[in-house]
Amino acid sequence: MQEQLSGSIEKTPVMIVGAGPVGLTLAASLAKQGIRSIVLEKKTKIDEHSRALAVAARTLEILHSYGLAGECMKEGTFLRQIDLHDVSRGKAALRMSFAEIASETAYPGMLFLSQSRLESILLDGVLASGLCEVRFAHQFVSYEETSSSVVVTFIDSHNVKTTMTASFLVGCDGAHSSVRQLWGQVLEGITFPVRVFLCDVKVPDPFRGTLPFPRVQLTRSGLVGAIRYEPFHWRIMGTRPVEETEEEALISDNLPDLVARLLGPGPFEQLWMGVFSIHSRIAAGFRRGRVLLAGDAAHISSPAGGQGMNSGMQDADNLGWKLAFALQGGDMERLLDSYNQERHSAALSGVLPFTTRASRFALRPRLFRMALPALALALRSRKLRRAAGRRLAMLGTRYNKSCLILGEKKWAGRSAPGATLLTSTVFIFDVSEKILQNVEQTTSELDRERLPFPVTVRRIEKTDPLWRRWQARPNLVALVRPDGFTGWAALAPSAAEMRLAIRRALGILVAQ
Ligand SMILES: Cc1cc2nc3c(=O)[nH]c(=O)nc-3n(C[C@H](O)[C@H](O)[C@H](O)COP(=O)(O)OP(=O)(O)OC[C@H]3O[C@@H](n4cnc5c(N)ncnc54)[C@H](O)[C@@H]3O)c2cc1C
Repeated sequence: MQEQLSGSIEKTPVMIVGAGPVGLTLAASLAKQGIRSIVLEKKTKIDEHSRALAVAARTLEILHSYGLAGECMKEGTFLRQIDLHDVSRGKAALRMSFAEIASETAYPGMLFLSQSRLESILLDGVLASGLCEVRFAHQFVSYEETSSSVVVTFIDSHNVKTTMTASFLVGCDGAHSSVRQLWGQVLEGITFPVRVFLCDVKVPDPFRGTLPFPRVQLTRSGLVGAIRYEPFHWRIMGTRPVEETEEEALISDNLPDLVARLLGPGPFEQLWMGVFSIHSRIAAGFRRGRVLLAGDAAHISSPAGGQGMNSGMQDADNLGWKLAFALQGGDMERLLDSYNQERHSAALSGVLPFTTRASRFALRPRLFRMALPALALALRSRKLRRAAGRRLAMLGTRYNKSCLILGEKKWAGRSAPGATLLTSTVFIFDVSEKILQNVEQTTSELDRERLPFPVTVRRIEKTDPLWRRWQARPNLVALVRPDGFTGWAALAPSAAEMRLAIRRALGILVAQ
């Protein structure tokens, strides 16, 4: 079909490619800050089939800040303790309680919710904000960057070509990202020598519909498992050899047997089946000028450990406030560079090694069988349970090498206990009168600068439980950014140091 040119040239502050969980999270994060966006999605509607099922505590905190966590919790199943149920032995082979991180997050556990339901909740949320337009059946084609904008070209389902100017373009367009391909970049890393198959089934009877989960069974060819993602709805998972063609892998001949082994005998309805390669790969960089990548477009990880979608949504939340500040006169270069530095290293040294280790473990049935008792024993230790809980909850992310992270490393670059993720906050810990005056003067100056978010002040006394969680000391002053990370921290800072550091940590342009 021949392309037609649409006459209208429109403008938007931020153009997002892809209405997957990451693109919609970015739109929600921008809307929280009063910034408009347009999302282009080539599909005609949200995908009704789901890949991800597990939503981590950190992601729930982010969703909470958009006012969407309540609905997610209502729709999904929140487990405060994960009992890995060994079907062959009819008992839990591993118990992982999140009680140890209950003082660190309002969501000490893991939410099982289908990705498609999560996407629908995000979509409804961004549309209700009135600040986001989602254009389904619109495919991004190309862009050209000028000194002050990005000119984006896309086509609709009638092949009508439109050109629109945006201040920023963000590719949240998945593993085969067209935005990244225009950079000539591939995702570097490894592909595992097996594939994962998924099958969603509906099991009508109340007994099998409410069995404990996750359920696993070790077979000679690998691990098979089942997770309940909605009442009576189960996801059956297993591995397939890479030599098989997709058709061979998707032949569901052995499905009745598998369902019977994992859930018990009885009727079931097959809803969907898919087979996926698994990778651990990352782009060399997430930024080129005014164009950025987030989510699977920037990094892809194995589903083991359930962190791919979560880390992509955390990319989006990290980027949202930075784009908002850049659009409102902030130091664009430092804000966007910091996004690349922070989220590239979070994926490269956090998510990818963890999910790769988890996959190697899950893909070797003998190793898995041998290691399970040792792991179960290790998890009796409170310390190890806490470490494992923080890892699964994705609470331990730390930004070391970032041009926006300043001051005392003990606090700066870590997620801040007690942060609201709604605004920037200066936390002050039992400070002297003089420091208090400096803080008040600095924040009222910032108020006059009309930041996208006002900077609020929070005093923490020694009796406050947060004192311990921060491992605070008297006269500690710390700036918590809108994404809940500590951007700057110092003990007994001078007035001049405070003024400069808070501005730099928030990416505000500072006269040299
Ligand atoms: C089997 C499996 C299980 C998984 N389980 C988990 C889990 O439990 N927890 C977890 O955190 N992660 C999990 N993941 C990973 C998770 O599914 C992905 O990380 C997540 O979907 C990435 O979201 P995204 O928005 O970046 O990309 P996608 O979900 O791929 O969305 C990209 C969107 O961009 C659109 N698009 C692409 N090109 C264009 C274009 N040119 N123009 C317009 N639109 C375009 C696509 O249509 C799509 O809607 C799993 C993955 C697999 C394969």
